[in-house]
Amino acid sequence: MPDLPLLDPRFGGVFYCLKELTMFQPDLATAERPTGDWQGYVVPQDWGHFTADDHEVWDMLFARQVPYLGARIVSPFLDGIPKLGLDAPGIPELGALNAKLTPLSGWSLVPVAGIVPDAAFFAMLSERKFPIGNFIRPADSLDYLEEPDCFHDIFGHVPMLASPAIARLMEALGKLGVEAIAAGEGDAIARLYWHSVEFGLAREGGEVRILGAGLASSFGEAHVALEAELPRPRFTLRDAANMPYRNDRFQPLYFVADSLDEVAAELEALDVSGLKQLAGPD
Ligand code: FE
Repeated sequence: MPDLPLLDPRFGGVFYCLKELTMFQPDLATAERPTGDWQGYVVPQDWGHFTADDHEVWDMLFARQVPYLGARIVSPFLDGIPKLGLDAPGIPELGALNAKLTPLSGWSLVPVAGIVPDAAFFAMLSERKFPIGNFIRPADSLDYLEEPDCFHDIFGHVPMLASPAIARLMEALGKLGVEAIAAGEGDAIARLYWHSVEFGLAREGGEVRILGAGLASSFGEAHVALEAELPRPRFTLRDAANMPYRNDRFQPLYFVADSLDEVAAELEALDVSGLKQLAGPD
């Protein structure tokens, strides 16, 4: 395994996502797991509490990220930004954003205060609800996240949710996630989620592009995923379901799907018995 580009000064700090951390460390998450009662995690966004500095942080992150992503990200992401008005300055107000998103794809965004346990997270997805942290990182910590903030959650995930095809995939992952956790296969579905819609790459137009929201929203890791000398194996359900991941540093490898449509079709066709087979011996 090559050296990880951990704390490479060119890229600033480490992106990591504690919402996913709970999914990927079953021992930590077990105590919180039995609940699928996701409504209990919803809080007011209280958009008025964001300061001018907070909005400026959003604008700085947006202005830095969009030019780099350019044609380096799958096209539904780029289509979603103007459709949802995400190119307007400042942190979006979720009511206004939902007024645009829901008619497009049936999804709506629900504000949360921080970490959502995996059972509740997948239960939200299964009902076309996506959790959005009601806070943003400070200006002196643009590249280091202790938990997913609204820039990760909105900029990284929401443009894709405007696409009917991705909207369907994310709902399917939610439903499979709920069933998988109940069947003791939480690790396998978490890995599939991680290596596709969170930190995956996909081919489009003859190029390897960013697919995952964790990459789309991370200046440093987007560069690493596309440019660093790291393994980029072809995405298969079996390999991804069995590949551990890192949630505290940049990934040691990035799976490349043959296309967004193909990985979406494969994941949507998967059920719990198929998941059990993937997680078992070859
Ligand atoms: Fe995420």
